[in-house]
Amino acid sequence: MDKFRIFSELSGKMSNDNVLKWKNEGKPVMGLTCSNIPEEVVHSAGFLPIRIRANSVEDTSYGDANLHRISCSYVRSALEILFSDNRNFFDGIIATNTCDHHLNLADFLHHKAEFPLHYFQMHHTNTEGGRDLFINEMKGLIRFLKDRYSISIEDSDIRASIITYNKTRALMNRLNEFRKKNPPLLSGTEFMKVVLAGMTIRKEEFNVYLEYLISELSQAESGSDKLPRLMIFGAACDSPEFITFIENRGFSVAADNLCFGSRHYHGNIDENSDDLLSAIAERYFQTISCASVMNDFDRNYDMIINVIEEMNIQGIIVARLKFCDHFAGFSKMLKDAMSEKKGIPVLDLEREYSTTGSGQISTRLQAFHELIKK
Ligand code: SF4
Repeated sequence: MDKFRIFSELSGKMSNDNVLKWKNEGKPVMGLTCSNIPEEVVHSAGFLPIRIRANSVEDTSYGDANLHRISCSYVRSALEILFSDNRNFFDGIIATNTCDHHLNLADFLHHKAEFPLHYFQMHHTNTEGGRDLFINEMKGLIRFLKDRYSISIEDSDIRASIITYNKTRALMNRLNEFRKKNPPLLSGTEFMKVVLAGMTIRKEEFNVYLEYLISELSQAESGSDKLPRLMIFGAACDSPEFITFIENRGFSVAADNLCFGSRHYHGNIDENSDDLLSAIAERYFQTISCASVMNDFDRNYDMIINVIEEMNIQGIIVARLKFCDHFAGFSKMLKDAMSEKKGIPVLDLEREYSTTGSGQISTRLQAFHELIKK
């Protein structure tokens, strides 16, 4: 039996059978536009938190018309899906200002959306001030959930969700261990499908599927093809097909720091803390941060080096969306630092959200392969 079957089914699109079953049972679904929005809080309120994906969108004419063509294709595609027939699928949306493109989306939703919307102001510095803002925004989110949906959220609910999410992250770390093997026991494509599946299902259920997969993989043997091992960076990259495109060109995607990837599962929360919101904030400020967090490159760089050594990485790809200034800047800084200090080549790949591959990308990957093999 294909041990990844359930993950392939769940990762196909947002409105999968599991989500529809949850809805049909009259249970609420909350859409989140960014992986830095603390999902644990939404989960503690009894919602199914779903990171908004728009991989089924082919035409962004509505998004183009309302958000301008120089907005990144993720936010334009997300707008398309939120105003398409899928609209009634969500019981609410939490939007934010991770970047100006997100802010435009949030502003548009604020003026046009008929569904409940909450704006979670995001931090842009890894400082005390940033943490205080994050904690205050969590308090605001809890007030919104309580008032708008007439529900109670006790510390015991938040602690229970933290325990569940810690278990998920511990299981995802065990799964990541299988990627250390050479070749890895699961491909980058399979790993992304697992990650994406976990973004459309309650973590309690996801943990059961993860335990099954880990027990299966612990009996598996590594193959023989030892290919150049890559680490992928970037935002809004939720396309297993794109990872397959890279792997089909003679690479092994053995690590990543994608928001639709490992970054979502890094770190642990102190479940015994007396101050649960500070404990949650600690986790979000400890992990490798998004490029939208300004003053954090040096701290990120040190953690990236640890991953590179642990996962035996030979090359890095920054897969950034067109018009994504944050990752354009990060890509330049990483390329300079890596070539100067580590001699690890970095390939900067610009793509659109729906890109799963192209002739131009194929040519660049071929040249990158030769560079690493030299
Ligand atoms: S991909 Fe970049 S520009 Fe687009 S929403 Fe994410 S951070 Fe903003």
